[in-house]
Amino acid sequence: MPNRTIIVGAGPAGLFATHHLAEAGLEVAIFDKGRDIHDRRCPSPLQCTHCDPCDVVEGVGGAGGMSDGKLNLHPKIGGDLTDFVPAEKALELIDQVDRIFLELGAPSGENGADPISLLRRAAACGIEFIPARQRHIGSDRLPDLIQRFKNYLEEKGVIFGLRSQVEDILVEGGICRGVRLKDQTVEADSVLLAPGRSGSLWLGQIAHRYDIPTHHQPIDVGVRVEVPAICYDEAIQVNWDPKFRMHTPTYDDLVRTFCTNPNGFVIRERYFEAAGVNGHALHSQRSENTNFALLVRIALTEPVEDTTAYGNSISQLAHTLGGGAPIIQRLGDLKQGRRSTWNRIDHSYVKPTLGAVTPGDISMALPHRVVTDIIEGLEMLDRVIPGVASASTLLYAPEIKFSSLRVITDKRLETRVRGLYVAGDGAGLSRDIINAAATGLIVADSILTRKG
Ligand SMILES: Cc1cc2nc3c(=O)[nH]c(=O)nc-3n(C[C@H](O)[C@H](O)[C@H](O)COP(=O)(O)OP(=O)(O)OC[C@H]3O[C@@H](n4cnc5c(N)ncnc54)[C@H](O)[C@@H]3O)c2cc1C
Repeated sequence: MPNRTIIVGAGPAGLFATHHLAEAGLEVAIFDKGRDIHDRRCPSPLQCTHCDPCDVVEGVGGAGGMSDGKLNLHPKIGGDLTDFVPAEKALELIDQVDRIFLELGAPSGENGADPISLLRRAAACGIEFIPARQRHIGSDRLPDLIQRFKNYLEEKGVIFGLRSQVEDILVEGGICRGVRLKDQTVEADSVLLAPGRSGSLWLGQIAHRYDIPTHHQPIDVGVRVEVPAICYDEAIQVNWDPKFRMHTPTYDDLVRTFCTNPNGFVIRERYFEAAGVNGHALHSQRSENTNFALLVRIALTEPVEDTTAYGNSISQLAHTLGGGAPIIQRLGDLKQGRRSTWNRIDHSYVKPTLGAVTPGDISMALPHRVVTDIIEGLEMLDRVIPGVASASTLLYAPEIKFSSLRVITDKRLETRVRGLYVAGDGAGLSRDIINAAATGLIVADSILTRKG
């Protein structure tokens, strides 16, 4: 058995695990089904045309490789590292990831204005504002940074296999012995599967095939909210992607803001075969609006635990009602129980940044409980950020954040197949760059400890 580690996935989880192992002098080969960073380009950033590989989420740098790289330096944003390590170690891991980003050329300046006034206002309204240290790499700098990362690893002897999709793992007697690609097998004594969200279904199949337990995680269902950029300005000065969480009065459900795009655009996303929405900030183009997701956390217990199937059925219903396009509605129309029309949308002070939508009634598409949570959540947020619950505010539905199946591991992130580890978003262990990278470091530590 060769003294070699194979990493599947060159996203943050795979790259940071590789960095740690290569620095310790281990032989590492990393496979990714996507392209090299400077060969990645999306032909249609405002509307997905389903390319294979998908340059937005696949290739060196992983899912965020073409984003503007906002780093949330907080162990409980984008995952919860304290599930695996003590709180102090979680902060150390984040510092370790941040240090590597800085060495690779990430800008040293962190965000922004003093959070105290926003914190005070949010607390007075029963809303949790999570001021996080945030570092903003920027879409203009990120590809070169990722290229330097890859060059550094290659100088350390790491082999990159690109456009190389791993199809299966090799297991003998409960021990992982390597991986199988389309036309070759590669042996190793440790394997890390870090395939991200784009590879989560494949990882679920591997888990099923080798009897590795998994469980469903909560999903987030809601809308994309679009407001005039000026309205959200103060919060943006404090954090580029301000995180607010609240529990709504009627159902006591957790509602949170996510993925804020100052001067950004609402974009279409496909959930399986149905239409949904997301948000995007383009470096080259700025709109007059800011958009963010407002999401309700949904967990299911017996008899149905499959949150993916539930989310899928919501997206199908919205797809049917929107005639195959996402639904847009003014908040004022939603509250008055009437559908929006293009004529009513034209009366809005907010001009939609996504045109390929159907004016309609979101309350016909999303569960009543979610709609109540969204309205109450916006009214609560309006006390902190006046204007977000104006009648003109635009809502796009559905926005659904599906969660990968959580692969059950020990604290060292090793599965029940010995020598097989998982990290990052694909295994349901993280939801952002920093947390994914940190789980990669945990695995690297585990492999080094095992090898003594
Ligand atoms: C458009 C966009 C913008 C984002 N912006 C931000 C942001 O600003 N800040 C932030 O913190 N997070 C952001 N995220 C989320 C962030 O990118 C992810 O949380 C993070 O990249 C997850 O890292 P990962 O290593 O677990 O997986 P990924 O980054 O998804 O990498 C997994 C890699 O595995 C490869 N792969 C999958 N299956 C196989 C297989 N079978 N064989 C070989 N290779 C395989 C894929 O090609 C991919 O390159 C963004 C995501 C997207 C989609």
